[in-house]
Amino acid sequence: MTGTKDSNSIDGSSKEILNKINKAASVIEIFDREYPEAACSLRYVDPLQLLVSTQLSAQCTDERVNRVTKDLFIKYRNASDYAGAEISELENDIRSTGFFRNKARNIKACCMMLITDFGGKVPDNMDDLLRLPGVGRKTANLVLGDAFGKPGIVVDTHAGRLARRIGFTDKEDPVKVEYDLMAVVPRDRWSSFSHQMVMHGREVCKSRKPLCDSCPVRKYCDFGSAATAATAATAANTAVTADNAFADTTEADLEINSRPKS
Ligand code: SF4
Repeated sequence: MTGTKDSNSIDGSSKEILNKINKAASVIEIFDREYPEAACSLRYVDPLQLLVSTQLSAQCTDERVNRVTKDLFIKYRNASDYAGAEISELENDIRSTGFFRNKARNIKACCMMLITDFGGKVPDNMDDLLRLPGVGRKTANLVLGDAFGKPGIVVDTHAGRLARRIGFTDKEDPVKVEYDLMAVVPRDRWSSFSHQMVMHGREVCKSRKPLCDSCPVRKYCDFGSAATAATAATAANTAVTADNAFADTTEADLEINSRPKS
């Protein structure tokens, strides 16, 4: 016997990964038909605007963020403008996005570091982005993918919920979900698939009441293909609880993010 593995010798975990890779390919094919134009709904024209918008979007709708940034981006045109701003004035300018004190502190500190460490420019790699106050992996991946065209999987509340229901992961921690998705989604689809998951989560796979009966990926979804009407209701309630614990950025996160990073 040689050491070559045949299909019978593939162990359980390899089989599971292969099944998830095939499932991901099928879901992506359907999402490409359903959401060919899926993209970030935050409005921005450069990496700094996207970075600021993403920080403002914690616990706030993209629609509200876009309303606020319409004027904000006229007033604050570069990192120096935020870094030199009076904190009370910046707080006032972003007040309606919620958690405005922590957000203002993070944005100002983030822009101060952009000036001192990065020549006023937003860095284009994960390690440097994660050094910035208020920037976690979700924000970093969004900036990498959308502002720099580098692959990144963005796990927000919709993407996490969808990944668990479809069966790509059983994790709650967004970073662990991200790694589970990275293992089964082709690298060149990380960014676009993230946006497609968000759209599907908003329009079909809703937190409280997933529309499984009309869902185009039901056939490939663990939850949708197994659930009866009764179990769907029970599981949806469970998912709501999980989602709340898993929201994009919680108040605690904002506090953690506002701490100076070593
Ligand atoms: S089948 Fe149901 S649970 Fe699965 S992705 Fe579709 S809406 Fe969500």
